[in-house]
Amino acid sequence: MMSATNRFANCSISQCHRPSVRGGACQICDRPFCCVHDRKEFHTCPSLSEISEEEYQQLGYNEISELHQRLDVAELLKRASTLNAGQKCRYESRDSDTTGFIVGCANFHGRIIFDDQTEWLIRIPRKGFNEYPRQLIEHVIASEFATLKFLENTQVPAPKAYDFGLASDRDNRIGVDYILMERIAGRPWDYGDKDKQSVLESVADILIELSKYPFAQAGSLVIEQGDIYISKTASNRYVHLDAHGPYATDKECFLDICQQYLDLIADGQICPKWPQQAFAFYSIFATHVEEVSPSTNVQDFFLKHVDDKGDHILLDETGRVTGIIDWQFAQCVPAAEAFGPSYVTADPARLQSADAGLTEDDQRLANILRGKGSASLGMMMERDELMRRFRNGISDLDSKKEAQHILRGLLAVMGRPQPEDIVVWALEVCRQDHRWPSLLSLSG
Ligand SMILES: [Zn+2]
Ligand SMILES: [Zn+2]
Repeated sequence: MMSATNRFANCSISQCHRPSVRGGACQICDRPFCCVHDRKEFHTCPSLSEISEEEYQQLGYNEISELHQRLDVAELLKRASTLNAGQKCRYESRDSDTTGFIVGCANFHGRIIFDDQTEWLIRIPRKGFNEYPRQLIEHVIASEFATLKFLENTQVPAPKAYDFGLASDRDNRIGVDYILMERIAGRPWDYGDKDKQSVLESVADILIELSKYPFAQAGSLVIEQGDIYISKTASNRYVHLDAHGPYATDKECFLDICQQYLDLIADGQICPKWPQQAFAFYSIFATHVEEVSPSTNVQDFFLKHVDDKGDHILLDETGRVTGIIDWQFAQCVPAAEAFGPSYVTADPARLQSADAGLTEDDQRLANILRGKGSASLGMMMERDELMRRFRNGISDLDSKKEAQHILRGLLAVMGRPQPEDIVVWALEVCRQDHRWPSLLSLSG
């Protein structure tokens, strides 16, 4: 029987009617597989960890070559020139310093260099996006563009955005999905201590600036005829979620995200290797939503960079922050989350462990916020790390053991007692839900 839960894709094994695992397509052949058929015995491609460095580089090179077969460079240069007062420009696929490609996990960037030496980037989603529904991809692109346009009217140092286009649009002659944006000079922060004070000072300034722009709903930004407004959420940084919302209250927002995750886990689309731990994780959030959404006196929502892991911050040679990049998936979220501890001050290893609690850097950022006269933001920054744990989730792990640590960490942040056996405890939580039969069939 087909389930009612929305699917990104169906399993590519013939006669299999299960949904594909979200974000689980084979990185060699691109085929999507369900939670059963992603095992070795059904599919012979090696995993990325099994191929050599040369083979890995060849894969990336092939992808970028394929992308350039679709990209119409002449049309791109024509468009860029038109948008920049007719100034002539040229295209380079590689960076000038490193001669490597400017490429992240999710996007490739080509350079557009104008005669006056100013530089723009064309940002193009990588092939990993192909497994997502077109409508969702298009919303993510349109929303990132709107976010950058919104930021242009603030003091947040983000790249200026000049244009975006969708491959499905017949008027788009460039041939790919893209955003055209300013290239901000600078090197990504390497998380080093040397520049940390300067980085945290800038992060504090940016949080204070964003706190001046409240929104009435939670969701992601879109722009229509110059008007920027809140629309559905642009998925999340794992691209697990459908575009839902916008939401009028923080409670509504958290509950809907929890229910989406619970449905997806029970359907085998997320966390197929530790479904019960993952299900218990979101069940606990859903049943304790009052603690998750503290009734602060701030009812508004604020823009948040959802992938603020440090390398989104560019610095000049002196360590001064030149810009904040990679605003893909940005959302307007409740104040407690917008100004609470995030990735930039997290200890990544600790975040994946049972060892919950604020870090020294969380505390340091809270103090800087207070020092800059923002006592209320300082207070939110040192409240607890519940929202950071919620958004970090329980999917991006190597083993079931780690999932168990994450669950224990969650209980610790919530101040709940630690069960003797976390596996049995999770099982009991799952059993109380109407989706238990589906969950049981996954682990059976
Ligand atoms: Zn494959
Ligand atoms: Zn299958």
